[in-house]
Amino acid sequence: MQAADRTKNVKYAIRDIAVLAKQVAKKKKVISLNIGDPNRFDFRTPPHLVNAVTKAMKQNKNFYADSMGEEEAIDAIADYHRKAGINVLNSDILVTMGVSEAIGLCIGAFFNRGDNVLIPRPSYPVYSAYLNLYEVGQKFYTLNEEANWNLDLKDIEKNITEKTKAIVVINPNNPTGAVYDKQTLKDLVNLAGQHDLLIFADEIYDELILEGKMYHIAALSKEVPVVTFNGLAKNFMAPGWRVGWAAIKDLGKMKEAKDALFQLARARLCAVTPQQYAVKPALEGNRKHLVEAKKKLRNRRDIVYKRINEIEGLSMKKPSAAFYAFPKIHIKMDDKEFATRLLEEEGVAVVHGSGFDMPEHFRIVYLAQEQLLNEALDKIESFVKRNRS
Ligand code: PLP
Repeated sequence: MQAADRTKNVKYAIRDIAVLAKQVAKKKKVISLNIGDPNRFDFRTPPHLVNAVTKAMKQNKNFYADSMGEEEAIDAIADYHRKAGINVLNSDILVTMGVSEAIGLCIGAFFNRGDNVLIPRPSYPVYSAYLNLYEVGQKFYTLNEEANWNLDLKDIEKNITEKTKAIVVINPNNPTGAVYDKQTLKDLVNLAGQHDLLIFADEIYDELILEGKMYHIAALSKEVPVVTFNGLAKNFMAPGWRVGWAAIKDLGKMKEAKDALFQLARARLCAVTPQQYAVKPALEGNRKHLVEAKKKLRNRRDIVYKRINEIEGLSMKKPSAAFYAFPKIHIKMDDKEFATRLLEEEGVAVVHGSGFDMPEHFRIVYLAQEQLLNEALDKIESFVKRNRS
């Protein structure tokens, strides 16, 4: 049987590299700097969350959840956003199977063929994947590497067309690790208002700030509707639980779209149930795990930043949040070849920049312990040295 045409452009380079890494691992040791999964390294889900999920299972909360999410989780999510200055009602929250599902459902519910959505370049590939699947157009705005990967409002404006319905802002950013300042975000909200754009604010790394301050876009917006995405995967080190959500600040402008979203949500039944019982203890509980996690991440970020910039043929900007760096390749080698050969010849897995729609770069995940990270950086260094001509 043939594949449907709409699947042809659905790509997710991060997982594609993982497939190759698995093959290479049969022959040699592979150091994985390719997947942003803290639990594959020395980060653990806080025990009080594991206890909450275990308790829910033991109490037989193994039934189908409400399609919008369990009441306890929704209450906690709405409260968390209200405390951050984002005015949402409980009925504005949808609990999903990770942020990925929330993104897919919102794209499916809000946009038609012929519409387009502005996404950043470098981009996080789930947006492209779902836009392609639903045959919605995509336009890129380019993040400004020279300005530490900041938003470039002029470039954003240049790429808005009559068909542009929304803009995606990932803050803190994957793959660059940038955090945007308040004024830039306010200017972005104004621009969105002028062009009647909905904002998708992907804030899944909002508690993993290593330097600077995080501002929630929805809290800065008085007139522009904002859908904020967040979840337990990163801040609470539980990516395999698949718990995320969308919080819709609709300002009375999105009733029809929201109804469509909730209809799609009902059609997929519900998100996982027992794991939703970790949401309240997560959002209302202590953040002890983050103190240790951020200390480790700062050290590892500093190692990567120093060592990559010492390698002739590579350069990178300093990430301020999350656990990603996005170095530039200055040697004469295509980024896909760079990632493939680095994996095959040195056993180091990174993701090529074109997987994020930005060639001449690659993404490093700096979650690995220092010794392993240094080992990987030694290998990257000798690979670049060998191929510098
Ligand atoms: N959004 C961004 C920016 C991400 O980096 C990721 C995962 O890496 C996701 C969404 C997906 O999150 P989830 O695991 O909750 O589906």
